[in-house]
Amino acid sequence: MEKRIAILPGDGVGKEVSKGAVTILQAVAELFGHKFHCVYGEIGGAAIDEYGTPLPEHTLELCKTSDAVLLGAVGGPKWDRMPGHIRPEKGLLKIRKELGLYANVRPVQYYSSISDVSPLRKEVVEGADMVVVRELTGGLYFGKPSERTFQKGEASVVDTLFYQKKEIERVIRYAFELATTRKGKVTSVDKANVLESSRMWRETAEEIAREYPDVRLEHMLVDNAAMQLIKNPRQFDVIVTENMFGDILSDEASVLTGSLGMLPSASVSTKGPSLYEPIHGSAPDIAGTNAANPIAMILSAAMMLRMSFGLLEEAEAVENAVKQVLESGSRTRDIALLGNFPVTTEQMADEIKAALLDNEAIFNIMGAYA
Ligand code: NAD
Repeated sequence: MEKRIAILPGDGVGKEVSKGAVTILQAVAELFGHKFHCVYGEIGGAAIDEYGTPLPEHTLELCKTSDAVLLGAVGGPKWDRMPGHIRPEKGLLKIRKELGLYANVRPVQYYSSISDVSPLRKEVVEGADMVVVRELTGGLYFGKPSERTFQKGEASVVDTLFYQKKEIERVIRYAFELATTRKGKVTSVDKANVLESSRMWRETAEEIAREYPDVRLEHMLVDNAAMQLIKNPRQFDVIVTENMFGDILSDEASVLTGSLGMLPSASVSTKGPSLYEPIHGSAPDIAGTNAANPIAMILSAAMMLRMSFGLLEEAEAVENAVKQVLESGSRTRDIALLGNFPVTTEQMADEIKAALLDNEAIFNIMGAYA
């Protein structure tokens, strides 16, 4: 298989973890006989510094002409005082809109080998395995007007929560489809006791549910969902929710694994390449120290192999290599225990690569005897 992958490292640790993911992709290509052409583009603060805009046209073009996009992270204190329209995060919002990335899919998997770093008790979190599906192109983050005004002599501000029904339908339908391949349960999260937009969301979920008689639908208010996620995370299979609720809940769900550095995501497109990125940000507090955990980024690359290229065996090989390295006791600083010596970003990626190569060697030997 031959594929073109747009790599957008972005800012801060985005640059460091992207290198780790490319190391793993090259190893996969070598082992399984594929060709991955990695082409690089700037986004976020790096693009502002060089081109004065967080998403230059040529970066967008690079993405549109690739089979998939792998993104590190954007942002950092250097650009925090920029005017709203040229903040690094605007680059992220624009690329989502331009590529039609309507659903952000965030699997939350618990690794028993690092259960000691989860702030939750093992008996609460053991066996938790859910996917948060977040709507990505509507809601408060895109609605207009979004501005400061001066009304009745007072400084005022407005943000707008706007959805078209078809935007709600497609993301909820995606969640139902996903649930048919998992445990068959969708939890639709809203704030229907207060918001009109949530009441429309809830009605739409009910309508879609009629198309999927084998999937169980439950509704949950977002405040309750925030509590249930840490009280009884095993109850969830697929959670689907609007943009801002999903942003917050999926970060909360990362607590189950013990670190933001463990969670990958996929943003699914309606029309072009899908985009894969870790859920964490640019982590300015540790950027440049070779201390970031590259696992979220490497698992995002595994999601790309599975979802965009249909390379199921390859994706599983990467995921197994990650599990194996964690089981061996290797940990970056965010998941290390007090007194244990952590590995660097590069060392973690190299160990995962070594485990991948080793698994393949074993696989080949087994194949030869089969
Ligand atoms: P963050 O995710 O960057 O960091 C939160 C905490 O998690 C920090 O303590 C950080 O050190 C740690 N962390 C994050 N990723 C890690 C990794 N791979 N390994 C180890 N530890 C890791 O969130 P923040 O501090 O709120 O935001 C920092 C910047 O990132 C801001 O400019 C924000 O706008 C941006 N941001 C970007 C994205 C994105 O690009 N998708 C997402 C969230 C935040």
